[in-house]
Amino acid sequence: MELQISRGCPSCGAPLEMREDDRLTDCAFCDVQSYLVDPGLRRYLLPLAKTAGRDDAATIYFPYLRFKGTVFSCQGRQVNHKILDTTCRGLDEPLVPASLGVRPQAMRVGVVDNSCAGRFIRRAETAAAILQRAALLAGAGGRREAEPLYHRAFIGETVSCIYLPLAVHDDQLYDEVLGRPLGTIDDWSVDMNGSVRFQPQWQPSFLATICPQCGAVMSGERDSLVIHCHNCQSSWSEKGGKFVPVPYRVVSGGGGAALYLPFWRIGVETTGIEMRTMADLLAVTNQPVVINSDHRARGLEFWVPAFKVRPTALLKLARSATLSQMKYPDGEKKLTRPLYPVTLPLKEAIQVLKSLVAEMTVRKQEFLPQLPQLNVAVRQTSLVFLPFASTGHDLVQIHSSLAVASSIVHYGRKL
Ligand SMILES: [Zn+2]
Ligand SMILES: [Zn+2]
Repeated sequence: MELQISRGCPSCGAPLEMREDDRLTDCAFCDVQSYLVDPGLRRYLLPLAKTAGRDDAATIYFPYLRFKGTVFSCQGRQVNHKILDTTCRGLDEPLVPASLGVRPQAMRVGVVDNSCAGRFIRRAETAAAILQRAALLAGAGGRREAEPLYHRAFIGETVSCIYLPLAVHDDQLYDEVLGRPLGTIDDWSVDMNGSVRFQPQWQPSFLATICPQCGAVMSGERDSLVIHCHNCQSSWSEKGGKFVPVPYRVVSGGGGAALYLPFWRIGVETTGIEMRTMADLLAVTNQPVVINSDHRARGLEFWVPAFKVRPTALLKLARSATLSQMKYPDGEKKLTRPLYPVTLPLKEAIQVLKSLVAEMTVRKQEFLPQLPQLNVAVRQTSLVFLPFASTGHDLVQIHSSLAVASSIVHYGRKL
């Protein structure tokens, strides 16, 4: 489930409601859209219960790591996946609950910003270590724990830190959300010398949605990671606090396209299991096709959906699009079309590649043990928009046999 977040409009200060995956603000008061700069780890807090005479500076913020996304495991002769939606204690302190349970979803969370007095406790483990633990707890390795695990990837749509506010009154440690005592402070084992005040680099920042190339106002949907300038037909994403151009291509749709779905084109070379061309990919994964000179001339490229869908649909679409990539005729490079928003970050799409090669491979039993040796070096990346016609129930690609149920695509936005 997605978090509901309250924050102030970066332009006029009016209160805004945002969802966890939203990047563009939409303010009813000033009508200005701003783009949220990716802070790396997002920091939220559970709301404090209203108590008279509280000393905010004495609040202790205890960290939980929240992960919402998919774990892919290549194990035995199978590629497994599991959807995780979990919070995990950031350090081992028995006085506080091991997980926040459903609390973050049941209430509106706030954003950690420079108005937060109090001290923040640091996590004892890295985010990666906490995720591994969360995956184990959730049984993401599947039932065949005895089988060797060759590869595990977290395709985390969101990793964030949620703080539980605590306070000490009369030698008791209190959960300040519920106003309930957790135990006596004598049992509290966290060393407060390691805690910190609010750090300036945590302050959320925003960009004005002005096209860096022509100065026109750009637009996108609230969860778009790539926003468009319809004036100069350019696409942009945020990197390091700036908009950077995203090269794109639109496949010809004729008149019949109801929707253009975005795919990341990821040009790579691999070592360990060496692949440089499409011909190499077809041979390594044992595809039942005749390899020709076009395959040998074509650099290795994976096409991965640039939108969130369930893991099975993601792998299936990536596999079909990758194998059919040489079939698509170029269309006019214009953004004035029904484009579905980019909602899966490129770096997440890159994380899928090893699981994708495993999934594509016909002889999994022989291939999967070699997977740890596979190293993927990304050469270039861009976007391609593929036209799909609608049959009502399904979206069907116009030039290939690619198809996906409309409900799967639309459901993915709520994942
Ligand atoms: Zn505003
Ligand atoms: Zn422009």
